[in-house]
Amino acid sequence: MKKDILSYTYGELQDEIAALGEKPFRAGQVYEWLHVKHVGDFARMSNLSKALREKLAGEYDIYTVSPVERRQSKLDGTNKFLFRLHDGNTVESVLMRYKHGASVCISSQVGCRMGCRFCASTLGGLERNLAPSEMLSQVYAVGEIVGERISHVVVMGMGEPLDNYDNFVKFVRMLTDGYGLHLSQRNVTVSTCGIVPGILDLAEENLQITLALSLHGSTQEKRRELMPVANRYELSEVLAACDAYFEKTGRRITFEYSLVGGVNDTDEDARKLIAVARPRNCHVNLIPVNPVRERGFRRPGKKAALDFRQKLIRAGVNATIRREMGTDIDGACGQLRQRHGVEAGLSTSCPDGKAGIQTKKPEF
Ligand code: SAH
Repeated sequence: MKKDILSYTYGELQDEIAALGEKPFRAGQVYEWLHVKHVGDFARMSNLSKALREKLAGEYDIYTVSPVERRQSKLDGTNKFLFRLHDGNTVESVLMRYKHGASVCISSQVGCRMGCRFCASTLGGLERNLAPSEMLSQVYAVGEIVGERISHVVVMGMGEPLDNYDNFVKFVRMLTDGYGLHLSQRNVTVSTCGIVPGILDLAEENLQITLALSLHGSTQEKRRELMPVANRYELSEVLAACDAYFEKTGRRITFEYSLVGGVNDTDEDARKLIAVARPRNCHVNLIPVNPVRERGFRRPGKKAALDFRQKLIRAGVNATIRREMGTDIDGACGQLRQRHGVEAGLSTSCPDGKAGIQTKKPEF
């Protein structure tokens, strides 16, 4: 297999170019083609000699993602993309347009091994990690397709980013350094189900990204019902890791809380969530669950969700209900890929063709 040139940092690419016996400035030219002009073919790098272009093509591949399907919301400009990777696997990315700019939600793995009971992305278990190139390329491809500058990136698509730690951190550095898209680190958010060592390591990376914790239950027992990862890491440890992240980075934590009717949206749940959130400098993002019929998980009504939020607000907790984007093009997260997986006979297909039932045992 050829080397993955799009995953090299600027410094690493300088070393590669030097090893090829080329002048140092060539590294800057190649990096610009890849990360600024988003050219996925060495033959089109017109300021390089033909000999160098051929040398590069002999040693390296450019692992860009290719669009398979695009859906556009007529309601709010949200676009959902299915991308094919070089090995035939597929991942989803979503473009959301806000007043503050264009935000891309990317996937960090093909599949996921965390097994959260309400999440469709985990159905076939983990297929593989994404390389930094494949995460970057999702952002680049969306920007190129829609012809807009991407200002925000959220790592909240398929996969658990902190289960792919090194590639994820490298991706963030390359996304935000001065040589490529040069996004502000403050405009990058990573969402985790709560991998404690990953959160603690991330706190030491000297990054200014926002950490979002998928909380979903405010007691250890509740959380364990919904998220197998809680068997490995107790809620108290997860919260201590979030506190450490806040202390080190000064970045306010976001707690994501999928509201599941009758499961975690009672008065008592609100009280317990307040007990977690009030002492912390945090923001609670309530997400009415995308229904998972087979589990009997249902979305609470609009009023119930508003009432739940109101209880938090009255207690002094900063809480919002996530604005639903692209409801007309949506299914639950991950379903676009699943449908294609079934059609294409990929290993991600769900035996009974339904979403929401976990078919592979989680790893915890
Ligand atoms: N693995 C990471 C990021 C991917 S999921 C994490 O767990 O945070 C992004 C967010 O969507 C998480 O908060 C996740 O719990 C939530 N989510 C997954 N399935 C959902 C569903 N059916 N309804 C609502 N939110 C869901």
